[in-house]
Order: sequence, then structure tokens, then C-alpha cells
Amino acid sequence: MKKRNTFVVIGNSAAGLSCLEAMREVDKDARIINISREPYKRPYSRCLLSYYLAGAISEDRIWIRPENYYKDLNVEPMLKTEVLSVDEKNRKMKLSDKSVVEYDKLLCAAGASSKKLDIKGIDKKGTFYLRTLEDAEGIISMLKDVNDVAILGGGLIGMRAAYSLRKQNKRVRVIVKSSHIFSQILDFESADMLRSQLEKNGVEINTGLEAVEISGKDRVEAIGLDDGNRLDCQLVIIGKGVSPNSDMLSGKVKTNYGILVNENLRTSNDAIFASGDVAQTYDLLEEKTTINAIWPTAVKQGRIAGLNMAGKNTIYEGSCGMNSVEFFGMSVISFGNVRPKSGEFEELIQADLSHNIYRKVVLKNNKIVGAIFVNDIERHGIILNLALQKIDISDIKDILVDEYFDYGKVIPLIKRQKDKFKRQEYSDTISTYAEGSSFV
Ligand SMILES: Cc1cc2nc3c(=O)[nH]c(=O)nc-3n(C[C@H](O)[C@H](O)[C@H](O)COP(=O)(O)OP(=O)(O)OC[C@H]3O[C@@H](n4cnc5c(N)ncnc54)[C@H](O)[C@@H]3O)c2cc1C
Repeated sequence: MKKRNTFVVIGNSAAGLSCLEAMREVDKDARIINISREPYKRPYSRCLLSYYLAGAISEDRIWIRPENYYKDLNVEPMLKTEVLSVDEKNRKMKLSDKSVVEYDKLLCAAGASSKKLDIKGIDKKGTFYLRTLEDAEGIISMLKDVNDVAILGGGLIGMRAAYSLRKQNKRVRVIVKSSHIFSQILDFESADMLRSQLEKNGVEINTGLEAVEISGKDRVEAIGLDDGNRLDCQLVIIGKGVSPNSDMLSGKVKTNYGILVNENLRTSNDAIFASGDVAQTYDLLEEKTTINAIWPTAVKQGRIAGLNMAGKNTIYEGSCGMNSVEFFGMSVISFGNVRPKSGEFEELIQADLSHNIYRKVVLKNNKIVGAIFVNDIERHGIILNLALQKIDISDIKDILVDEYFDYGKVIPLIKRQKDKFKRQEYSDTISTYAEGSSFV
């Protein structure tokens, strides 16, 4: 008789959930265990945390699966339980409740945690990160006693928190070390447009500065800045990036910044897979491995890992870094390399500052490798498609960022080149990835 498989998934967020569902689709009999250190009986959406913080949605909208989810899927949840270490030789894991769980196949979908800031006074009550529902609830529980908020960091999380708390009518001051907000995903010009929009709506942004101290008796009363100034505040939110939660596999599988995986999302250990914000995978535009820490990428990777774990060989082709935000009516989308540093790149830009419109496409050898759109985001899909298919856009270069972009000219271009690129470069991409997998 065929032995019943035991599959264990660490994490019940984007990657973990889609893995559970894919495995169950393929293997109806397997024993499936899902371990999460968070306590909630129902999984929630991290992406909705800032909407919850802004008061735009109530707590009941944050749950993304029904109450009977685990029972209906025939999965055993182990909640409020942390995986401490993995014994990869004996396929066992040590858990925080001192129990040991064995597996045939394991998925690490443990995501990432906020990078901790090490400054004086960091433990004062009223200092938060924003990664989990517990963080959001902690912030919300303090809001009634808060008038002034300091946000440390001008990336996605910092700016989302700033927007949410401004929506809650707080005085919000953002402290950003670099010269502009969103320095990882926007260029100076587009970030400046967004900055003006935020400032017009009452968010104060201070660039080129860093917090060196949080002061107050027990609770936060102020932050000290590296220029010697002090800002009074009762709440501090830190958004200084994230680090992958790969400690439990440290020394057990090959890692770089994240856990390295091959095209099946399998790590250097045959029985262990990784997906989502913890996994370093192939970036189709950057043409190297990286972590593209966004929800849809984690969902797709979780599904592909799940299919492979359950025995259905499936290839993950890769992803690209993409971000979209909307603040006070200004919409921005960016993907790929938007701030090229060397002369081998070409930038096509069209800006209409009076209408807050900005379009930029970055090219390398006449192929699109990145783009930014401010307040004119409809065409991003087609531009992204051209980029991912590595279409030579020489014939339409003059209209790519034009106000009257002609979709009609794109279709023959794709038709002419699609087969060629599917055969050549696309398969190159896959083989590069397969080659890349040799280092795991
Ligand atoms: C405030 C906020 C807003 C965001 N908005 C967007 C957005 O609009 N669009 C978008 O695409 N992305 C957004 N993201 C990013 C997105 O949420 C992540 O890319 C996504 O959650 C990654 O999913 P994951 O499954 O890889 O990991 P995570 O969501 O980080 O989940 C990790 C899971 O692993 C568990 N875990 C970790 N370590 C252990 C351990 N040792 N033992 C047991 N369990 C463990 C955790 O409890 C959790 O269940 C946002 C993120 C935040 C924080």
C-alpha cells in the first residue's frame, strides 16, 4: 500500500496558504500540517493592515479565508507555535511548545520580519513596527492618546503608515535618511511628485535626517534627530525594511540573502522547499536572483512549491519587482530597474508637471527593463508585458511614453517577435535560471 505523505508548511500567509491548497488539490490523502507563530484561527491579509490602521476597513474585513478553512481543507493547524530549528537529516523540526514534528516534505513560507532599529529608547511604550496584525492592533489601541506621530523610514511601509495615520487626523512627520521617499522603487522626480501630494495633504516629510534617540519616561514623548533637533510625538512607527525569517534553516540549506531555491522552488535539501518573502528566486527583468517581496509573487510561488511537493513537476519561471501605491488620489506604479546607474541604459521620460503626470521607461539594448507611471497608469500592463517578453521596441520607441500611446502598433510588434523570443530568449531565461539553480 502507498505510504501516506506528511507535508508540513511553516507560515499561513500568502505563500503558505496557496501551498496548502495546491497540495490538497493533488494529494487528497496526505497528512498536512500548517505551523504559524501567529495566534489567529483564520489567516489574514497583511496588505490590508494599513487600510485597517486608516480606519478604512473594520477588523472583520481582514480575514481572507472562512472560519472552517482548516477543517474543510483537512489540514491540521498548529498556531501560536514557532519552529525553532529543523533537523534536515532526520526530517524533524523542534517547536516552541517543545514538541517535535516529522515531515516527508517541508515548505518554509516563513516570510519576513521588520528590521529592528537599534537606537537609545527603542523600548519606550508607543514604538511600533508594522508587519503583523498584532502590530496594527497595538498602534490602534494607542491612537486615542496620540496627536503627533513620527514615522522612521520613507519606504512602502513607512509611507503607508504615514498615510493611514494622517487619515486618522494625526500630525504625521516622516523622517527619511535618503534624499527622497521611496528611494528603492522611484526616481527623484516621481518621488518628488508624490512628496508634494502628501505634503499638500498634511504629511510632513523630512529627508536627509535620521532619528538617533527615542525619549520619554516610560512612553514615547519625543525623538532626537541627528541634526540635534527634537520632535515631540507620542507614537513612533519604524519602517526600515525587512529581513527573511530563515533562521530555523540556518546552516541546513543554502542561503544568500534569502533561501536559495531552484526552478521547482526546492532548496539545496531535496525535501525542503521555500516560497514567498523568505525565498530568493529569479527576477525576469534584473536577470539575477532576488527577493520580490509582494503578495501575488508569494501566492504564485506557494502554489508552485505545493504542486512540486505533492509530486506534480511544475516550473517557476520567475517574477519581477513591482509596486503600486495611491495616496490622496495620486496613483503610482513602478517595476524593474527605475534608477539605472550605468550608461548602457536609456531613459525615455515624458512629464506634464502641471497635471502631475509622469511616464518613464528604462531600456537596455532596446528592451524594457523598468518603468514608472504617475497618474497615468493604464498602460503599465502592456509595457510590463513587452518587458517580460523581452520584445525589441525599437519600432515604437518614439511613442512608448507618449500621451497618445498607440496600442495598435504594439500588437504587430509582439506578433512579429513573440515566436522568436519564446524560442530564444525566453528559453534562455529558463536555462539561466536552471543554471542559477546549480548554486543551491
Ligand atoms: C503593511 C503591509 C502592507 C503591504 N501591502 C502590500 C500590497 O499592497 N501589495 C503587495 O503585493 N504586498 C504588500 N505587502 C507585502 C506582502 O504582505 C508580503 O509580500 C506577503 O505577506 C509575503 O507573504 P509570505 O507568505 O511570504 O510571508 P508572510 O506574510 O510574512 O507570512 C509569514 C508566515 O510565517 C509565519 N512564521 C514566520 N516565522 C515562523 C516560525 N519560525 N515558526 C512558525 N511560523 C513562522 C508567520 O506567522 C506567518 O504566518 C505588504 C506588507 C505589509 C507589512
